[in-house]
Amino acid sequence: MGKYEDLKERVYVANMQIPAHRLAVFTWGNVSAIDRERGVMAIKPSGVPYDKLTPADIVVTDMDGKVVDGTLRPSSDTNTHLVLYKAFEEIGGIIHTHSTYATAWSQACRPLPIYGTTHADHLAVDIPCTAVMRDDQIENDYETETGNQIVETFANLSPHEVEMVLVACHGPFAWGKDESKAVYNGVVLEEVAKMAILTEQLNPETPRLKKTLCDKHYLRKHGKNAYYGQN
Ligand code: 13P
Repeated sequence: MGKYEDLKERVYVANMQIPAHRLAVFTWGNVSAIDRERGVMAIKPSGVPYDKLTPADIVVTDMDGKVVDGTLRPSSDTNTHLVLYKAFEEIGGIIHTHSTYATAWSQACRPLPIYGTTHADHLAVDIPCTAVMRDDQIENDYETETGNQIVETFANLSPHEVEMVLVACHGPFAWGKDESKAVYNGVVLEEVAKMAILTEQLNPETPRLKKTLCDKHYLRKHGKNAYYGQN
């Protein structure tokens, strides 16, 4: 059994959740997980269709993006994932998709307003959207700069309290304590994005969720006296 078999299997399973949850078609999207003790990240290989993907195809890189296990080229977004792992020290997994509704908000370059309790069950603020990238950033080290832009967007936000972001003109990234929570957050982001678009269609003047309801829903799940679920 190879050195990274467990990690590769976990990352394979997480990547297969992308088509299972209809978060992207063809080869779009990618999931990674980090093993901080060993200083490696496992990620989907670039451009491999999900119905052809196997655990053995998952690529393991060091924290500089050098392949340490695998025969395929890692995801084109590898450097974005690496920037996020280095900047957000508590996260263990990352997902990037081109899910339709979240991507629509990215393309509109709009933060996603908090309109209801589904959103507040997961985070208590609007989902941030990065700035549009400058030409020199696009032309130089595009994927690293994508990561840098996400990190800049979180200058005054906690990546623990807000585990998702819209990259302007591109699409969503989400993360979590591991790859499975990252996928969960990717699904949450897509559902909340869809609900917000429908909400604005039904009532373009919809106000943001009022604070009492926002606090109630967020804190009953995440506060120090949380009582949601079964512990
Ligand atoms: P990769 O197949 O290289 O991961 O690319 C998928 C994608 O969605 C690029 O943004």
